This record gives sequence, structure tokens and C-alpha cells, in this order.
Amino acid sequence: MRTAQRLTRIPPYLFAELGRRRDEAIARGVDVIDLGVGDPDRPTPAPIVAQLAEEAKVAGYHRYPAYEGGGEFRGAAAAYMKRRFGVEVDARSQVMALIGSKEGLAHMVWALCDPGDVMLCAEPAYPVPRMHTLLCGGEPVTVPLLAERGWLPDLDAIPEAAARRAKALFLNYPNNPTAGVADLAFFERAVAFCRRWDILLVHDAAYAEVGFDGYRAPSVLEVPGAADVAIEFHSLSKTFNMTGWRLGWAAGSAEAARALGTIKTNTDSGQWTAIQAAGSFALNKLGPETIAETQAVYRQRRDVMVAALRAAGVEAAAPRATFYLWCPVPAGYDSAGFAAEVLAKAGVVVAPGTGYGACGEGYFRISLTVPDERLREAAARISRLR
Ligand SMILES: *Cc1c(COP(=O)(O)O)cnc(C)c1O
Repeated sequence: MRTAQRLTRIPPYLFAELGRRRDEAIARGVDVIDLGVGDPDRPTPAPIVAQLAEEAKVAGYHRYPAYEGGGEFRGAAAAYMKRRFGVEVDARSQVMALIGSKEGLAHMVWALCDPGDVMLCAEPAYPVPRMHTLLCGGEPVTVPLLAERGWLPDLDAIPEAAARRAKALFLNYPNNPTAGVADLAFFERAVAFCRRWDILLVHDAAYAEVGFDGYRAPSVLEVPGAADVAIEFHSLSKTFNMTGWRLGWAAGSAEAARALGTIKTNTDSGQWTAIQAAGSFALNKLGPETIAETQAVYRQRRDVMVAALRAAGVEAAAPRATFYLWCPVPAGYDSAGFAAEVLAKAGVVVAPGTGYGACGEGYFRISLTVPDERLREAAARISRLR
């Protein structure tokens, strides 16, 4: 068998070695605590599960769903955008239902990228836009996120030659892995940049509802006229502990939504309508209180872990959003070396920053998505590291 050449463009998986060491430690009987993966540990709120049980009985939902998503779900997403961000989007032409935002981001690249096209990819980053650019035969150009700018990129530093050839700029705020946040002033600059170069701004807002201490993430669509040049990806995964359900949506540019739809109608047949209906219920009925409860859990875990890291001599900043801590490795280590050391000495898995691109060197990421008592145990072991 000969597989496609394009697969050779995907670099080796950077967590593979760490995963091997973790499994070895577990086999030796070490009580390993994995803070490497960003997948909420808490269950989906019971009312959403109950709603799905009801929706599952609707015979009409046992047939193929509508390609672009059911009208009800797209309407619920549009109403949420209005309520939460004050943004008007037309549910029919500007909203697409997704089988999770990962699916949408990947297919958005296929709708934009011809061989040789440049995609401007912020880094360190969730790897999906970069990997699909490679699979499309495109050229990812790294736009570094800078610590001294609060993990925002310097858009003026993007080489003109790259901007000229680019089809899209990929951003993600609140950011995984850095936990950086963007304000509306930055989004205004990003929209102006994309308008100037006639490229699409693809904004991944998966963590829009994971904020603390009164922080509320803005939508890029709050910038007047942004829907001409931007599309934003939202997800129920992190907001409602629904990663396994696979449900999200894209909203913004009608032209981008249509292009994405062309790829999707030829690829998948949409998420099960019963899941969309349960998602509509979550968006319509379980707003602020449920979300606030989840935020409170992460905020408390954040404080526990930041204190433990500081005790261990790590300069841990307390983020205003996401369930990640992004910390510099202590002097004398690189990212992989420090992650290996923490696993060997504390039995705790942390993600080396290089897993999110070369720009992540010198950092590690901790995910707060383990139950409280395990997080406290991990914190206690880490605080004894020094
Ligand atoms: C978790 C995550 C997503 C994926 O969300 P799904 O809707 O579950 O596919 C997208 N982007 C980032 C940055 C994430 O961390």
C-alpha cells in the first residue's frame, strides 16, 4: 500500500515520547496524575442529558440531518451571539452547525487553501489549522504570540510578502495554550489587517465562556463590519462539558460560511439533530448560572495550582481565562526535559510547550481538568519538587 505523500508533511506527534513514559510509569505502579490533556472532567449538566434522552425519541431526528444544521440550532446560536455579544448574525446565511469546532476549523482550511497558499498561523497554538494547511499543500507562516504583549501577536511584524500571499489569519482567544486574552482594540487591529490584505480572519472562540474574576471574552464580531472579513468558531465542548457530544458552530462572513458548507456537504452529513436540539436547549435555557458554576470550579483549581507552582519556584501567572496554566520552565531545563522531570519526580504529566509549536519552547502547560482532590494531590507533589 502507498499512502498519500501529503501525510509525510505531518510532523511526528510531540506528545508520543511523553505518553510512552507515562504508560511505563503507570505499568511500574506509579499513581500518575495527567494534567496534560484539556478535556473537562466534570459531567455534562444533567438537564442537557435529560433533554437528549427526550430528543432521541423524535422519529424525525432518526433521519439525515440538514447539512448546514437544523434551523432551530442555528437560530439558538444566533440568539446566543446577540445575547452574549450584542452581535447580529443571520441564522440562515451566516451560521453553520459543526460536528465540533475542530471539524469546522479543519474544513475551513480546505475551503480556503490551494497548494502553495500561505496561511498565517498564530503560535504556540492548537495545531489543527497548521496541520490542515500542510495537508492541503499550503504553507503555514508562523505569527508568534509574544509574552511581552500578553500573548498577542505583533501584526505589524508580519512580513508584507507573506501577508500578500496569505488567504487567512488564524487566531484563538482566550488562547490555548497560553491562556492569553484579547481585547476589542486588538480585534479591531486584526480586522483592519485582514481587510487591508483581503484575507479571512478565522477566530477560534472555544474558550469564550471560560473566564474568571469578572472577565468576559469579547467576540471578534463585535468589531463593526467584522463579518465582512471574519468568521468565528464556537463550541459547546468547553462551555457545557460536552466534548464527547461534538457540537459547535461557525458564525460571521456569509461567503466563508458558504465555502465551508461546500466542503461539508461533500464530506459529512452534519451532527445528529437530537444532539443539536439538546445543544439548543443548553444555549437557550442554561445560560449564565450553569456557566458561572463551571467558572467557579476552574477558578478555585487555578488558585490551588498557581500557589503550588510558586512554592516549587515556578513563575506561574494566574490566567483570566481558559482552564490552562502556561508557565516558564525553571532555569536549566527545556520544555521536554522539564516535563520528563516532573513525571519522574512527581508522577505528574504536564504538556511540554513544544507540543504547540516551536514557539512554545521554554514553557509547559498544565490543564485544570482533573477532579479537585487529584488536582490538590498533584499540587502537593509539585510544591515539593524544589
Ligand atoms: C478544545 C478546543 C477546540 C475543539 O473544540 P471541539 O468543539 O470539541 O472540536 C477548538 N479549539 C481549541 C483551541 C481548543 O482547545
